[in-house]
Amino acid sequence: MGITIIIVAILWPLPKLKVPQEHNVILIKSINIIDVKTGAVIPDYDILIKKNIITRIDSIIHPRQQYFIIDGTDKYIIPGLWNMHTHSTQHSVWLHHPLYIANGVTGIRDMSGQLNKKDSYWAGTKERLQWNKELAQHTRITPRYVLQSSYQMDGESSVPSDFPEFFKLKEERDIKPLLEFYQNENTDFIKVYMQIPPKSYRKLALEAPKYGMHIAGHKPIHISLEEAIQLGQRSFEHGRIFMYDCFPGADSLRTLKTWKAFYTKSKPLMVSDFNKEKAIRLMNLMKEKNAHWVPTLQTLKSDAFAHVSTFTDDPNVKYVPTLKRKLWWDPGIKKAAKKNKAPESQDENLNFYRASQQHVKMAYQQGVPIMAGTDVTDVNVFAGFSLHTELEDLTKSGLSNLEALQTATITPAKYCGLESKYGTIAIGKTADLVILNQNPLESITNTKKIYGVLLDGIFYDANDIKELKEFTASLASTFHMNIKVAFSLISSPLIRVQLAD
Ligand SMILES: [Zn+2]
Repeated sequence: MGITIIIVAILWPLPKLKVPQEHNVILIKSINIIDVKTGAVIPDYDILIKKNIITRIDSIIHPRQQYFIIDGTDKYIIPGLWNMHTHSTQHSVWLHHPLYIANGVTGIRDMSGQLNKKDSYWAGTKERLQWNKELAQHTRITPRYVLQSSYQMDGESSVPSDFPEFFKLKEERDIKPLLEFYQNENTDFIKVYMQIPPKSYRKLALEAPKYGMHIAGHKPIHISLEEAIQLGQRSFEHGRIFMYDCFPGADSLRTLKTWKAFYTKSKPLMVSDFNKEKAIRLMNLMKEKNAHWVPTLQTLKSDAFAHVSTFTDDPNVKYVPTLKRKLWWDPGIKKAAKKNKAPESQDENLNFYRASQQHVKMAYQQGVPIMAGTDVTDVNVFAGFSLHTELEDLTKSGLSNLEALQTATITPAKYCGLESKYGTIAIGKTADLVILNQNPLESITNTKKIYGVLLDGIFYDANDIKELKEFTASLASTFHMNIKVAFSLISSPLIRVQLAD
């Protein structure tokens, strides 16, 4: 009986969202255009969109009968926001995509992928490219997947037993088949992770560009940040990247087999004995090499504020499957909360978070290009919503409102080599736009006051946005959605090895 119910839940069909009506020509009247390059506000302008392209921006454009008109009076318009660090799953269509669009997140860079088989849990290049195709055809509601990632390359332990050996990257000879495989899949970059063997990392960094790819991801533990920058890693993820290399135990952390335990033990020292001069040297090198940093402050916040109920009782938890919260998020929060309350380790997580905020400020002042990312699927990170929190936290770290906006618009567009089509509001660019009720240059929290979203020229008004949110909220608590997610998790060999590590 129980098994029958579970099978029925797994097979239970999921609803499909309908893309709003397409308009051949859209005219946005009298809107304040925010130039994210300069911070200028061009008041009371008209924007004409034909199909999905901005064709005219003028002080006055006369409407014609067949135009669909959006009244922009007293409103502000910014380019669609991009989240440069997410992880999508086979259920993102239902659980993440609607929330991205509802929150004005029109582009995302997914930071994980698959090996040579479709995974039951993680999405890979094939699914993402299919979603992009359907986005262009206006048959699916999905953000734009802007660069395609490989699986996270983490050496031997991250590859389940029945997959080709070369994915383990144990030897330099494994690099060629790996790059050939991902090139064939139309993958854009190799995601590198903590435990990739140093020799393989070095070779990979040199060879990937020959295949039209680059490397991005974590700073591998056994490689110094300086070497990784010199070798051309294009983006570094998470708030702790300068911590690893700028404390007295940096050499031990890089060489010890037991680096995980050493890292945990060293966290207070990484904050108290931080070598600022070294960090500034590394930041300058990043600037010189155009290496980007995605601090994903949200990932550190979930530990730092785990004991604060106003933080953990986020109303957005209604968008997360109950089972995922209970089995994955809650234990993580509980563990961190216990640590935060214990007298001997009370401020450790908070200090670590505060230190990473200071590094954001320092890095920005040294000219390191910073991009907004949230690490969606991580504890207390919400698709769409958390990007706005990240922008706010970037301003709390010392960036101006304009600089924070740039981390999710022009900087990512440039990083992806897509500046000619996205990142600013200009003639010839794709109409991925967010209309706000108030000026985000006055307060960054105004990015949350969304009036409407344009994605590939499709307009989502307040009703559509409400519907998108309700769609995910209603599914996240259903029995069948939870069973589907649970089943896809336990069926995934990639999840099994990731959990075992
Ligand atoms: Zn991640």
